[in-house]
Amino acid sequence: MFSTFLIKYGEIAIKGKNRHLFEEALVNQIRHALSKVDGSFSVMREQGRIYIDCEGSFDYDETVEALQRVFGIVGICPVMKVEDKGIDELAGDVIRFLEETLELTPQNVITFKVMTRRANKSYPIPSMEVNSELGGRILEAFPGLQVDVHNPELVLHVEIREKIYIYSKIIPGPGGMPVGTSGRAMLLLSGGIDSPVAGYMIGKRGVVIDAVYFHAPPYTSERAKEKVVDLAKLVARYTGPIRLHVVNFTDIQLSIYEKCPHDELTIIMRRYMMRIAERFAAMDGSMALITGESIGQVASQTIQSLSVTNEVCALPVFRPLIGFDKQEIVEVSKKIGTFETSILPFEDCCTIFVAKHPVTKPNLKVIQCSECKLSDIIDGLVETAIDTAETITVE
Ligand code: ATP
Ligand code: MG
Repeated sequence: MFSTFLIKYGEIAIKGKNRHLFEEALVNQIRHALSKVDGSFSVMREQGRIYIDCEGSFDYDETVEALQRVFGIVGICPVMKVEDKGIDELAGDVIRFLEETLELTPQNVITFKVMTRRANKSYPIPSMEVNSELGGRILEAFPGLQVDVHNPELVLHVEIREKIYIYSKIIPGPGGMPVGTSGRAMLLLSGGIDSPVAGYMIGKRGVVIDAVYFHAPPYTSERAKEKVVDLAKLVARYTGPIRLHVVNFTDIQLSIYEKCPHDELTIIMRRYMMRIAERFAAMDGSMALITGESIGQVASQTIQSLSVTNEVCALPVFRPLIGFDKQEIVEVSKKIGTFETSILPFEDCCTIFVAKHPVTKPNLKVIQCSECKLSDIIDGLVETAIDTAETITVE
């Protein structure tokens, strides 16, 4: 019965002159998402609307799920498309629509209204008259229904174009902005719960995501790395392809461990992660870094620690989870499907070298002083880490 979807988009409709750029990006993202679904689809942009026509057989659920991962989409309306054969035929189609898709019977008691939009101005009947004509015919077929123009339980939309589109259901989309409309940023992606959620949230604002992962073989295993690749794939279902740089961090960590006070390990390590991430950002054209940090979650995420970590970065650092409780982050990770992978029990390079009592209020001067102890080797180690990084593009 449905062979067309009408796509509703909110925020991007108000972007003035740039509007067509946003619409183009949204159409591209929709095409990309549907290229992974069985079926043949054509995506059209027409008078401030996006339509998807499905030719031949297609999997309805799979199609809707794919569209629900496209940022910028606010609502997905499954549409019944009929030929224009006059108002009598149309009334019959509308009644069939109500019977078949909403399973309405003459016994149902609900309020409704008809909303007609006449995009084809040569259609002979004005929209208000179409509303009242169809409304009357619906009342005859379903005597339990009642018209309520202010707050109806059911809104029946009728759009008159070359063909006529009938729909009532609006399936929620993810909202946000289409990826590709807000530049590019570099996500520090670990195997935890938080950073995939952070990447999702910034992607939702239209940002293309790249990622960097620091591992420490043989202290961290190949499985731990695979887990991060899997997480990147899950985030990429929303954001599109991600270039993931896998950096061997072992020698840097061992030197920090050897030369610096143990209670400062995490903070110094985090500063090197940020420095290296910024180097990759420069290479990839990323304009910001993204982390999964949230105030007070662990010692390295007190305001003092965050500010000492931040000090090494020239780029803005986006921390979309900064004000979230763990439980709230877990909820998003379940919703986007990363949670089950995030909780797989593989060691993390941070947990292996972590001190029993890390500093919670690091002092910048003290930390800089500790880093001086690395001065004769660290530059070489950083260059080697960057040069030997493996880049994996995940889809
Ligand atoms: P997550 O659940 O994202 O791992 P976390 O609660 O474990 O976060 P930390 O380990 O302190 O917190 O890491 C804070 C942030 O630093 C992470 O959200 C991530 O952005 C980044 N990060 C930590 N470890 C790594 C790593 N091995 N590779 C890349 N980024 C990392
Ligand atoms: Mg972590």
